[in-house]
Amino acid sequence: MTSSVLDQVLEEIKNSVGRDRVSIDADDLITYGRDWTKAYAPKPSAIVFPRCTQEVSQVLKICSAQGVAVVPSGGRTGLAGGAMATNGEIVLSLTRMNHMADVDSIAQTITVEAGAITEAVHQKTAAQGLTWPVDFASKGSSHIGGNIATNAGGVRVIRYGLTRNWVLGLKVVLMSGEILDLNGSLEKNNTGFDLRQAFIGTEGTLGVITEATLKLTRLPAESTVAFFGLKDLDRVFDLFLRARKSPFLVTAFECLSRGCLEAVLEVQGLRDPLPSVSEQYVLLEIEKPQSADQLELLDQWLLDCLDSGITESATLAQSPKEVQEIWALREGVAESLGHRGRVHKHDISLPLSKLQAFLKDWGRALGTQYQGMEPYIFGHIGDGNLHVNVLQPKGMNSPEFERIAEGMDAEMFATLKKYQGSVSAEHGIGLLKKNLLEFSKTPVEMQLMRSLKNVFDPKNLLNPGKIFD
Ligand SMILES: Cc1cc2nc3c(=O)[nH]c(=O)nc-3n(C[C@H](O)[C@H](O)[C@H](O)COP(=O)(O)OP(=O)(O)OC[C@H]3O[C@@H](n4cnc5c(N)ncnc54)[C@H](O)[C@@H]3O)c2cc1C
Repeated sequence: MTSSVLDQVLEEIKNSVGRDRVSIDADDLITYGRDWTKAYAPKPSAIVFPRCTQEVSQVLKICSAQGVAVVPSGGRTGLAGGAMATNGEIVLSLTRMNHMADVDSIAQTITVEAGAITEAVHQKTAAQGLTWPVDFASKGSSHIGGNIATNAGGVRVIRYGLTRNWVLGLKVVLMSGEILDLNGSLEKNNTGFDLRQAFIGTEGTLGVITEATLKLTRLPAESTVAFFGLKDLDRVFDLFLRARKSPFLVTAFECLSRGCLEAVLEVQGLRDPLPSVSEQYVLLEIEKPQSADQLELLDQWLLDCLDSGITESATLAQSPKEVQEIWALREGVAESLGHRGRVHKHDISLPLSKLQAFLKDWGRALGTQYQGMEPYIFGHIGDGNLHVNVLQPKGMNSPEFERIAEGMDAEMFATLKKYQGSVSAEHGIGLLKKNLLEFSKTPVEMQLMRSLKNVFDPKNLLNPGKIFD
């Protein structure tokens, strides 16, 4: 885009929606031109902050007419580079569109603008005894629009499923400026294609979400958390089976390796709640038993886990403060590993029944040639979802590190394909994982995805280069 085209487009946008909606301030360009991904340099031309759906429509219409590319941007916590503007695009930030309507407690829904912060929605709905059960560590910054565009997962998928399950209606603006109102607040609506689904998890490549009607559920009863030390990953799976068969309602089952725990303890200055050192750790969250009998049952269940040799140590949180302290150990892993240096990371998933076989096969494929590059593994193991992180060893330069880590990737993705796994469980493809898509999608699927993109955005101006080129 030449500077005269950009000047003309920005002038048109200012005249159409207001001069204060546009920024070319250097700090804004850096802040809003990037997401959480550290792998790319932000290089947007301008940032536009619309205040309503109509303004989004006017902005997109102007950009479409002039052939200017647009990157939709939410809370910028994405981990795949989906909201990165690296090529002179205009960033459309939904930050100022954060209105939340009143909770409809009969239908158990709330309608919010796309820029509403996830945690703000939790707080507003909790006051009515309800919740939108999409929950993870970045909820204090992420937007509802970003959660929907990434079909976010998180720590309670085992209980509630993915974001897709909790979206009733969407207002979406196409690159042409056309506004779609999809499904309103209907629970049932079998009238042919459900177009709403096309915008969930497609990372802002097909349309800009401006408003959503979210389905709510009752706020869970008070939960409690146990933390276990285990000898190895086989025992983690044994414990998972036991937890599933127990009389308790499991709301989270998360794992982290010793290396991950050490990183959190060191970087965040937290306390190890267990008396001894183990190779693997599990955080188990359940709805808190209400009667004395059930509490006794829980104590007995924990003792049985220890007696049977599945777990080496265990602790049950005794107060809401201890619940928080244990959750901090799990939620602090990603950030703490980042503090230790450059991290090469992946977010993979497998059918649960194949996870153990995959890990063993991959371990065998790595053999001894990658010593000093052991992966740090943690994540939502109850959903078959592992975050695999490799840290750059001290003394190794970055190109060498990336070259070796890519060798490990090649072994991992070949094994993943064998077990019908996914190269991206919940973070999306964005810019970061485009080259991996072929491991999870067939050529026919790729062709259909391109055709769909062409229907919604024939000029390829909305988030171009994301998911595929
Ligand atoms: C510490 C940490 C922990 C995390 N834990 C999890 C986790 O457990 N599970 C999980 O799933 N994710 C997790 N994430 C990733 C991230 O928080 C989610 O992907 C989140 O849903 C992104 O929301 P966002 O508003 O920040 O989106 P952004 O990063 O701003 O954007 C993400 C994508 O959505 C598009 N987009 C944003 N808004 C819109 C819109 N209104 N319309 C159309 N497209 C739009 C962008 O173009 C981009 O492609 C974590 C991130 C961090 C930093």
